[in-house]
Amino acid sequence: MDLGIRGRVAVVTAASKGMGRAIAGELAAEGCQVAICSRDAGSIESAAEEIRSAHGVEVYCESVDVTDRDALRAFVEGARRSLGPVSIAVANAGGPPAGRFEDFGADEWLDAFRLNFLGTWTLIRAVLPDMRAQRWGRVVSLTSTSVRQPIDGLILSNGVRASVVGMLKTLAAEYGPENILFNNVGPGLIATDRLLSLAGSRAQQAGVDRAEMIKRLASRTALHRVGRPEEFAWVVAFLCSERASYVTGSSLMIDGGLVKAV
Ligand code: NAD
Repeated sequence: MDLGIRGRVAVVTAASKGMGRAIAGELAAEGCQVAICSRDAGSIESAAEEIRSAHGVEVYCESVDVTDRDALRAFVEGARRSLGPVSIAVANAGGPPAGRFEDFGADEWLDAFRLNFLGTWTLIRAVLPDMRAQRWGRVVSLTSTSVRQPIDGLILSNGVRASVVGMLKTLAAEYGPENILFNNVGPGLIATDRLLSLAGSRAQQAGVDRAEMIKRLASRTALHRVGRPEEFAWVVAFLCSERASYVTGSSLMIDGGLVKAV
């Protein structure tokens, strides 16, 4: 299926590795020009070079921490100047630290809000004028299955990511008449560095090796395996495409059947 987005400009944050990197690569494979950022200059530049040489598209990159709102706005402005008006935005970031209710005070909650909510909010504010002018836009936020089923020991993520989905659902209604679509995706267990290190620390606590811990985690899914970043990216690229023209306000779990709710 041709996704119908060749030549469109797509911005993906937190994209030097993991799911963000896979999404940027998939959008480039569909012929988008992509703008990517993450905190470390060296790794975002090498990700950009890989995408350019694999797909022959223009790639704009900057080292930006998404909690720095001015830097994030400047990144979008740089992308617009270099590639043209933005049509597609994928809001990704790192995750807040693990812990339980009494582990955190107000400062940690504010940090988590800055990372996962305000980072998404800033990106949307920055790209919206281009999308409104084109009367075409796709915004996808990347959260977690915790928006459907809270995860034990991840209270910051459970609390803050739900607020992102609340905002997106509201925006879907506000900007639907202008053909700007807002959807959320929730990864379950996707084999990125983050999952591998999480599995490593859980393995240590349980006194088993990492491969065994991954097997145990995977057994919670219907498919009995963890997902590959590109399996996640295929779905996101579809939601960013012309072909998803009647999908907005949805929150789709890409989790191999991890969440048990109907
Ligand atoms: P990853 O560690 O493989 O990649 C994270 C990327 O985000 C890197 O490019 C990193 O440089 C960048 N990054 C982190 N913090 C940033 C910041 N403040 N500003 C800019 N860039 C930043 O992680 P991943 O597994 O691809 O995870 C992406 C998101 O999905 C995270 O929020 C994670 O918590 C969430 N998540 C992942 C899983 C999973 O199974 N992998 C499950 C649920 C939720």
